[in-house]
Amino acid sequence: MAVISNSLQIKHGLSLWCPQSASINRTHRRSSIGLGRVLRRSYVAASSAFANENREFVIVGGGNAAGYAARTFVEHGMADGRLCIVSKEAYAPYERPALTKAYLFPLDKKPARLPGFHTCVGSGGERQTADWYKEKGIEMFYEDPVTSIDIEKQTLTTNSGKQLKYGSLIIATGCTASRFPEKIGGNLPGVHYIRDVADANLLVSSLERAWKVVIVGGGYIGMEVAAAAVGWKLDTTIIFPENHLLQRLFTPSLSRRYEELYQENGVKFLKGASIKNLEAGSDGRVTAVKLEDGSNIEADTVIIGIGAKPAVSPFESVGLNTSVGGIQVDGQFRTSIPGIFAVGDVAAFPLKMYDRIARVEHVDHARRSAQHCIKALLSAQTHTYDYLPYFYSRVFEYEGSPRKIWWQFFGDNVGETIEIGDFDPKIATFWIESGKLKGVLVESGSTEDFQLLPKLARSQPFVDKAKLQNASSVEEALDIARASLTS
Ligand SMILES: Cc1cc2nc3c(=O)[nH]c(=O)nc-3n(C[C@H](O)[C@H](O)[C@H](O)COP(=O)(O)OP(=O)(O)OC[C@H]3O[C@@H](n4cnc5c(N)ncnc54)[C@H](O)[C@@H]3O)c2cc1C
Repeated sequence: MAVISNSLQIKHGLSLWCPQSASINRTHRRSSIGLGRVLRRSYVAASSAFANENREFVIVGGGNAAGYAARTFVEHGMADGRLCIVSKEAYAPYERPALTKAYLFPLDKKPARLPGFHTCVGSGGERQTADWYKEKGIEMFYEDPVTSIDIEKQTLTTNSGKQLKYGSLIIATGCTASRFPEKIGGNLPGVHYIRDVADANLLVSSLERAWKVVIVGGGYIGMEVAAAAVGWKLDTTIIFPENHLLQRLFTPSLSRRYEELYQENGVKFLKGASIKNLEAGSDGRVTAVKLEDGSNIEADTVIIGIGAKPAVSPFESVGLNTSVGGIQVDGQFRTSIPGIFAVGDVAAFPLKMYDRIARVEHVDHARRSAQHCIKALLSAQTHTYDYLPYFYSRVFEYEGSPRKIWWQFFGDNVGETIEIGDFDPKIATFWIESGKLKGVLVESGSTEDFQLLPKLARSQPFVDKAKLQNASSVEEALDIARASLTS
């Protein structure tokens, strides 16, 4: 899933980080490992009001960004005895995108399960299981979300009432799935939202006994869950208010290709539809989706994929962005409060390339923002985060699927478009504004094709539109674009 919210001038003047309570930890840095441990124990004894032993750095949130941040702390030799992670979930950080992909494979097609996809396997790194955190001396609190912050006292309170002290705080709370209100049936049994492993487990148990699945939302989640439901051989309908799939990114023509593929796999579409409410049967479980036009679509399982909201509630005092939501940070992920940082989905950061403030709900940004922030915090790195928007999806990947699809997009989807290829198997869309190549998407590309895309989107070369339009294949179009890099 990926969202870019944008359009605000970059806010300048965010304060520089200056540690407010690093005195004890300074001693740590100078000490040998053995001595550090002794010092830590005596510090704990002297401050028993706090539940956490490791207070120099605290990360709130145990998701994608937290996993990559933890790895960066370890790489800098700054995790052991210094870092504490507080998570709402019961599991060590994992690669969340798997939840609507391999996690939903039919049970006889080798679905992914933890510990298989803990971070940082998604980028070819080491698999960081709960034991990895223990071995690295990182203190973990599971299933105990932070509920409030006292900025003056540099203290967090958790749901169970723990008081946690922090020196520097990294907020990595991500997003929560947007829900239908309870009064229209949003909480009925059989109605699912998908954000974490617990949600995915509930969905899998519904799919095991499902016949008729309705998916509400034509974005990433909708497309991925629908492809999974096809694998389970379920009667599947996607309902959304827009005119075509993934309207935020795809052109109507590109959407049509994907919609045709889904239809060939038996998926039905109800476009331009708005939902009135979800109906329940005598057992209280969902039985149908009722539309505003009065029609009823039968369903025993409903998946709502209508977007997500930044999880900011305990941190509203830290400084929220009013146009894109989330917590406002500068190019090094510093909030306006010294010593407090925000990364990943929850951060509203300056998107330098396009000179606007954005929030990006995308795993690549979660990884990079976490690494950038922690490097800036622990080293002399001072350069501004310079992110190139990148979205991807992969569906129908289970064994025996009629056709796997995988696409990547880099850049900005602005301006006019040129589409090359007939989706059999490849297609490419180029977005061109004022003669410059601004964005490019390729379906079923080779490794070489996909390596070219970020170079194009980053350089934004002038392209010969007529030549590009006349390309007879995706390969030829990419060659023309590649040549424009040097001309
Ligand atoms: C089903 C699904 C499929 C996706 N597919 C893709 C994809 O194909 N490609 C892609 O690029 N991106 C995808 N994404 C988006 C991607 O997973 C996110 O951008 C990424 O996980 C963001 O990382 P994060 O660490 O900011 O947030 P998250 O990974 O969501 O982690 C946030 C963590 O903080 C915890 N938390 C929240 N509040 C608190 C609190 N108060 N106290 C303690 N802990 C708290 C949450 O429980 C969670 O563990 C997908 C997301 C979902 C949900």
